[in-house]
Amino acid sequence: MSSLRPKHVRTRLALWYVALLATILVLSWGLVGLFLFLQLRSQVDHYAVQDIETVEGLLFFNSAGQLELREDYHNHEESKQVLEWLLEVRTPSGDILYRNERLGGRSLGGVPFFGEGVGGYSVRSLRLQDGTRVRLASRRHSLDGRVLIIRLAYSEEAVWARVKELAVSSALALPFVLAIAGFVGYWLARRALAPVERMTQRAEHITAGLLHERLPAGSADDELGHLARVFNDLLSRLEHSFEQLRRFTSDASHELRTPLTLIRSVGEVALQKSGTIEEYRDTIGSMLEEVNHLTSLIENLLTIARADAGQIPLHRSVFGAAELAREAGGLLEVLIDDKRQALRIEGDERVSLEGDRLLLRQALVNIIHNAVKYTPAGGAISVRVAREMDDRVRLEIADTGPGIPPEHAAKIFDRFYRVDEARTGNGSGAGLGLSIAQWAVQMHGGQIKLKSSTGGCLFQIWLPEGGRVQPKPSHNNVA
Ligand code: ADP
Repeated sequence: MSSLRPKHVRTRLALWYVALLATILVLSWGLVGLFLFLQLRSQVDHYAVQDIETVEGLLFFNSAGQLELREDYHNHEESKQVLEWLLEVRTPSGDILYRNERLGGRSLGGVPFFGEGVGGYSVRSLRLQDGTRVRLASRRHSLDGRVLIIRLAYSEEAVWARVKELAVSSALALPFVLAIAGFVGYWLARRALAPVERMTQRAEHITAGLLHERLPAGSADDELGHLARVFNDLLSRLEHSFEQLRRFTSDASHELRTPLTLIRSVGEVALQKSGTIEEYRDTIGSMLEEVNHLTSLIENLLTIARADAGQIPLHRSVFGAAELAREAGGLLEVLIDDKRQALRIEGDERVSLEGDRLLLRQALVNIIHNAVKYTPAGGAISVRVAREMDDRVRLEIADTGPGIPPEHAAKIFDRFYRVDEARTGNGSGAGLGLSIAQWAVQMHGGQIKLKSSTGGCLFQIWLPEGGRVQPKPSHNNVA
């Protein structure tokens, strides 16, 4: 059955339109016919009833006791109608007393039914033996002490003929009207859907390489204009994502190449000449350093890839904020010791966080690690924990390093963004640390900002507060 369904929406719309119009026309013409019929018939009823009264005055019994109609009725003003009368007079028991010429030998309604014409008029439709449809009014009348049932009928054929005329002319007009409506409907639907056709043609040409193309939206503020704009917005977002992905891939491969090249060149140089065990140790040591760098880079890339795919579930728990900062500091203890820096963790020990402990710890590690990396030896790093009025926890990480020039401040959370590109490879990362930290914080509904960057950096993080936790003995100075 579905093969009968027209392929194009415009055809379906036109067909629906035609079907609906046909139904409305047939129904309304039917109603008009019915109304016309009832109107004409009530007119016939009206004449029949009126004429019975005339007949009552014209009937008389002649000297032989036979019922007759006075001959002067032709002078009556309704004489023309009189010629169309079908008139019959009977006794209540059914004996025929009179039949006019027009009726001839035909019976008009047979034996009177019980109560016919009593207390007014009985009006009904019936067919004569020859099939003529008539409208019959009857009335009981007393004449010279005898009870008569006067029956007067008019042919209904003219009424039926009018109704038939209407039905035939409607039936003839219907196909024409529907054909015109179908053409007009199809043309209108085609016109209204033309923008969809244009959008489809354009969309078919849009591939991954042509994402800058847009659908023709026009200036229309209608549904189709809206659809085109929504689609164009979607294309913009897709284009942006594709661009990001392309940049991410090329940045990532670039970052991966640097340590690999280093490992290879260190190895090649070492192989070119024979050296002492000490020299080989050094070579292997610096190769391992690069391997470590490579491993952490790959881990970061994997984190970002899984984060983008939405594959990292949050394992939520409640833990102390200061305790988490201490844990993060503990992981960097060796580096901090190396640079003779001091890490202070201050604030209310009872303030707690709710979220994925490992993810938030990673965010803190990344920020504190930056502070350690960029702050000169002997500098100070502090983490301050405070509870805000709006039930959020604020963590502030400050250092006494060079800070970040204001023109870079807006971009430092971008992937692969480094303030000083030249620092690559000197222990500085690939520019992923802060973007991972920002992602982790945002996953928890939090916020991260670089507050001020003169005379060291101050990073601020806001996170949702957890329940109260028991304070643990604090070691303010990890270094
Ligand atoms: P990276 O892995 O290169 O450190 P990040 O995303 O962690 O990348 O940081 C981006 C850039 O922001 C860094 O390259 C560095 O230039 C700058 N930056 C981050 N933290 C600090 C800081 N505490 N002091 C100075 N510069 C910083």
